Amino acid sequence: MQAVNSGTTRRQLLTAIGLVGGAAALYQAMTTMGHAAETQFHGPPKLDGAKPGASVLVLGSGLAGMLAAFELSKAGYQVKVLEYQPRAGGRNWSLYGGDTYTELGGATQKVGFAPGNYLNPGPWRIPHHHRTLLHYCKVFGVQLEPFIQFNHNAYVHSTKAFGGQPKHFREVAADFEGNVAELLGKAVNQKALDADLSAEDKEKLLEALRNWGVLDKDMRYVSGLQSSSHRGYDRPPGGGVDGAPIPSTVLDFSGVLDSKVWNNMAFFMNHEMQTTMFQPVGGMGMIGKAFARQVQPLITHNAKVTQIRQDKAGVTVAWTDTQSGTASVSKADFCVCTIPLGVLNQIDNNLSPALQTAIGAVPYSNSVKIGLEFKRRFWEEDNYLYGGHSFTDQDIGLISYPNNHLFQDGPAVVLGAFASGMGAYRLTGMTPEERIETALTQGSVFHPDNYRREFSNGASVAWSRVPWTLGCCARWNEETRKDYYQTLVAVDDRVVLAGEHASYVGCWMEGALLSSIDAITRLHKRALEA
Ligand SMILES: Cc1cc2nc3c(=O)[nH]c(=O)nc-3n(C[C@H](O)[C@H](O)[C@H](O)COP(=O)(O)OP(=O)(O)OC[C@H]3O[C@@H](n4cnc5c(N)ncnc54)[C@H](O)[C@@H]3O)c2cc1C
Repeated sequence: MQAVNSGTTRRQLLTAIGLVGGAAALYQAMTTMGHAAETQFHGPPKLDGAKPGASVLVLGSGLAGMLAAFELSKAGYQVKVLEYQPRAGGRNWSLYGGDTYTELGGATQKVGFAPGNYLNPGPWRIPHHHRTLLHYCKVFGVQLEPFIQFNHNAYVHSTKAFGGQPKHFREVAADFEGNVAELLGKAVNQKALDADLSAEDKEKLLEALRNWGVLDKDMRYVSGLQSSSHRGYDRPPGGGVDGAPIPSTVLDFSGVLDSKVWNNMAFFMNHEMQTTMFQPVGGMGMIGKAFARQVQPLITHNAKVTQIRQDKAGVTVAWTDTQSGTASVSKADFCVCTIPLGVLNQIDNNLSPALQTAIGAVPYSNSVKIGLEFKRRFWEEDNYLYGGHSFTDQDIGLISYPNNHLFQDGPAVVLGAFASGMGAYRLTGMTPEERIETALTQGSVFHPDNYRREFSNGASVAWSRVPWTLGCCARWNEETRKDYYQTLVAVDDRVVLAGEHASYVGCWMEGALLSSIDAITRLHKRALEA
């Protein structure tokens, strides 16, 4: 443990603050020291004293459902999980060579990736502050490796800037910062900010702008060695006779504005998008598999829930075996339902009218991911691109280079699209073959010489066509949160909902887990009171 000052450890200091000032002071001190601010996870739930024989039905075996099953059975409940798919994990899923996937509408894809390669159709990155997920990954033995989120050498492309030519992120971002610094410096020197800044603060700000924007002695952002030290060189520094670098030329500021690079810069500042990030070795689906190893005997697969009823005696769930067509009924004292809202909304139930309204009130976003396998890693070998994303304003949204097996020979999978909004709807309307064709056309803007020539095969998942979610993730807004969120998460007599949709960390696995912990903690309390 790191010492704060001579002879005092951080824990000792925090304990002392806690004794003197109570929990609030302790929390404030921890936050200041960077211990508490980034997560609501305080360890696994403590569910002591379950009544003997008490039972819970869990609907869905995504991460929310499996965590509920794991913790409730550990607490002594009799748990049964009903899962529509032959696989556990839900949206936590990877597609490998040999896998088959059929989307709504009937199109079936057989994935042709080489052994070891995969597409993560859903989740693909884990922020360092998603402590619940990282906790269970460690406990369940999921091996993690870095996910390369930020690559200065990757590209930014706008059809409306620089004649449609992509530029390196570092060039446009440096030029944006340099120009903004120069303009702000002018405003300060022309006394435009005198009402807002003291003379001393003006000096500090000018110093900061000179440094941050790599401005020259006259506070100008110009082509030269200084700006090249951020944006890159025409000839980089080397050794010997020709070692001297040749500076690059800054871009026209109007083009920089047209590129809207600030969107990408702001993206990386989003707390959920900040580094360090992680991914499981071997594909995101490894997390679902690890959770499943803990609870597999509790899960009934191919069980499509068709009706949920509750009364004073308990909960009755009707389900159909999708393989045999046989109809069955399962009963329990309580139920944790993690079925995505768009699907749940279509299942016959006698939940309270308020909860039924809430379930129907939350729309889902759409998104499309496309994996493209290429015969070699030309992005690494020819362009020095190791992980990270190249952004575009075309429908595909971005392409992302693999973070694993860097420098290896042989085929590798690039994420050829992560589309949202209208782009996702247009791609969803296409056949899987048309999606690949579009991804190749649009992605060629970054790698015109290689993209088509070295392409081998591809696969896509359009989330509005995924039969067991009917969308990507719940999309709350301020209004729906105000009107429906508390109803959606409340224990409805014997049933409680859990999943990413029942959290403020929407569309993250962390949200699914935090929601699950909260839901089962309250359900346990309810069960003890029964
Ligand atoms: C495109 C995309 C990108 C994402 N990126 C990230 C990311 O980078 N990082 C991150 O942390 N998160 C990401 N997420 C979000 C993450 O995947 C989810 O928040 C999380 O996996 C949801 O878990 P869940 O248990 O709530 O739901 P699910 O995983 O959807 O589980 C629900 C389960 O219910 C089952 N089910 C459905 N209908 C029935 C029925 N009738 N009967 C029985 N069972 C049924 C389903 O088969 C499924 O197994 C992404 C999601 C998508 C779609």
